[in-house]
Amino acid sequence: MTNTFQFQQIGVTHSCYKEKFGIPRQPGLVTEAAASIELLPPFNRMDVLDGLEGFSHIWVHFIFHQCIQEQWKAKVRPPRLGGNKKVGVFATRATHRPNPIGLSVVEIQGIRQDKKRIFIDIIGADLLDKTPIIDIKPYLPYADALHHAQGGFAPEAAALTPVQFSKLALAQALSYKEEYKRELIPLIEQVIGQDPRPSYLTNADDRIHGNLLWNTNVKWTVGSDHILITEIEYPVG
Ligand code: SAM
Repeated sequence: MTNTFQFQQIGVTHSCYKEKFGIPRQPGLVTEAAASIELLPPFNRMDVLDGLEGFSHIWVHFIFHQCIQEQWKAKVRPPRLGGNKKVGVFATRATHRPNPIGLSVVEIQGIRQDKKRIFIDIIGADLLDKTPIIDIKPYLPYADALHHAQGGFAPEAAALTPVQFSKLALAQALSYKEEYKRELIPLIEQVIGQDPRPSYLTNADDRIHGNLLWNTNVKWTVGSDHILITEIEYPVG
């Protein structure tokens, strides 16, 4: 019997996250993140989704495709422990695993067909753009929602840092909305409000950081009690 297995990609992700930096560490944290899973041939047929309309959420199994080249590690430093304490890889949701498979629960916003292309629009994904999808399963509240479960060293979501916009950034976000019909401000508040810097950077710093969201580069700095969005460059990429 073999102990190696091959999987077929069944879909591809279209997401606002164009780089790993800034993607939330779990799904559901950024509800403003719009994404879709496009089914790929030979799975781009409506009958494979028959019955899914009664479910509000799905489990998405995917490949951490941007980590495939990197070696897995037995012990990793979860950001939730400040990045200075190691725990076993199987006690974490880290991307550097023996099998680079991710698992996220997301809300279904709708299912659309555009000629031969079929999309499942989803809310709250923590997936990089172009992430390969290997399976989709319905979320079963009676089996999957465990109210007595314990969350180890990550019992709850980390608190958000308040986000402020410079006059320039605010004007840019508003003209972006006019041009692309996409609301940037709440997305930026949720993504950058997580303070995506590496965990060893906890204090104010005068560096300008940048996050690629859709076709923008959002520039920001960290003050003592808030994050300031200084500028939103677009179109980029
Ligand atoms: N919810 C999933 C899980 O538990 O398996 C993912 C958790 S993992 C900690 C989330 C991080 O994976 C994101 O912050 C992002 O940096 C990274 N990520 C998302 N999509 C990826 C991809 N396709 N390749 C590599 N890293 C990815």
